[in-house]
Amino acid sequence: MGIQQPFSRPHSAPVMKALPNESIGSLPSNRLVSHTSAPTADQAGPQVTMVYQQLSAIDPQVSTILTAALEGQEVSEAEAVILFQAEGTELEALVAVADLLRSRAVGEKASFVITRNINFTNVCYMGCKFCGFAKRKDESGAELLSMQEVAKRAQQAWDRGATEVCIQGGLHPNIDGDHYRNILKAIKQQVPDMHIHAFSPFEIWFGAHKSKMSVAEFIQDLINHGLGSMPGTAAEILDVEIRKQLTKDKLTTEQWVEIITTAHQLGLPTTATIMYGHIDEPRHWAAHIRLLRDIQKQTGGFTEFVPLGFVHYESPLYTQQRDNDMSVRPGPTAQENIRMHAVSRLMLNGWIDNIQASWVKLGPAYAQQMLRSGANDLGGTLMNESISRSAGGKNGQEIVPEDMVRMIRNAGRTPLRRGTLYQPLETFSESTTAGQVPERSLSGGVMSQSGLGVQLIASTAGASV
Ligand code: SF4
Repeated sequence: MGIQQPFSRPHSAPVMKALPNESIGSLPSNRLVSHTSAPTADQAGPQVTMVYQQLSAIDPQVSTILTAALEGQEVSEAEAVILFQAEGTELEALVAVADLLRSRAVGEKASFVITRNINFTNVCYMGCKFCGFAKRKDESGAELLSMQEVAKRAQQAWDRGATEVCIQGGLHPNIDGDHYRNILKAIKQQVPDMHIHAFSPFEIWFGAHKSKMSVAEFIQDLINHGLGSMPGTAAEILDVEIRKQLTKDKLTTEQWVEIITTAHQLGLPTTATIMYGHIDEPRHWAAHIRLLRDIQKQTGGFTEFVPLGFVHYESPLYTQQRDNDMSVRPGPTAQENIRMHAVSRLMLNGWIDNIQASWVKLGPAYAQQMLRSGANDLGGTLMNESISRSAGGKNGQEIVPEDMVRMIRNAGRTPLRRGTLYQPLETFSESTTAGQVPERSLSGGVMSQSGLGVQLIASTAGASV
């Protein structure tokens, strides 16, 4: 099944908007409502007036694109390529417009989720060139967690206040298709109310193949056993040539799109990601985000977009580039990170409300900066993040939820703890300080979060396994 023709929306037509905070598991086939019309310069408040003043003093081509975006028109792929090259005052104007669109879409709150990453195996034979996580099964450090261990870690996460576990692993040659279902059963038996955000499209492809099921049958079976949402990882760059070089084309762009749209059609929400800053270019980023937008127009199933900068330190793609006769960049530049978050806010405006700044990839200071450049979420605080650190990432330090609250406040925004599907769970009073433990509300209940004094390792739920 390929992607169908997206809903057509003339460039000047009113923007349509995906419903925020849609409840899980029952996405309506068409979850679009009319977007409130954007104010023009004449109708605007002081912030908008200032942005229009900025736009009047920059390159006319960039100004035209940004003005149209501000007034609710769709940014095309070609226009996005131009924006991805913005510098100086043009970049400042891009950021100002992205921040304004963020404010209109989601207001002044910036969110995070308490989650735990459980990488149930690091054994994988797929040989993706960028991956510093996978090991051969007889290699030192190779592991395959037992079901008991997975359930124990989920229980520990629950005891420490997590509302979500994010489960991803390598494609272990010895596991069978039932393994994925058994993980869900083990967790649900132990902690029935835990949201399970699990299994990349690559794992779905692998599990369906091992189970001799269609992708739809396999996903439906997982939903029946408690799968709550799927990470939209393994997307890397959805471009045929780039993917061939990164993954030997083992999960093609078409397959990724088929698995994601199948999940959405079965009522299973997913995230959307991009991994950028290696052998890719702005034209690939623009095409990638445009494709995600097309999917969202068709299904409405993406909850968020998570830009993931390439972590190069111990990634074979970077360290072995001479052997592979490739030219690989050491991750995105600071300006590219800003442009990625800002341009994605513009391109996805009206379709995907939540743009996540992955602080594990960016580091806390840059992540805060992204909250002023179009992003509205910092991802998760969790335990046992190992993927970015396996690739040599520097930002796997432990961060407690109170640190997230502080980071958000320092960015000038109002902290909000959320669930996986962006349902608001908790706001924080001005007097909340480190060491004070917030309460959590789950399924209508309120639990004391006494375990949150322990240190949690923060990560993104969009690790690229
Ligand atoms: S990215 Fe995932 S599928 Fe590819 S080698 Fe690493 S663990 Fe395996």
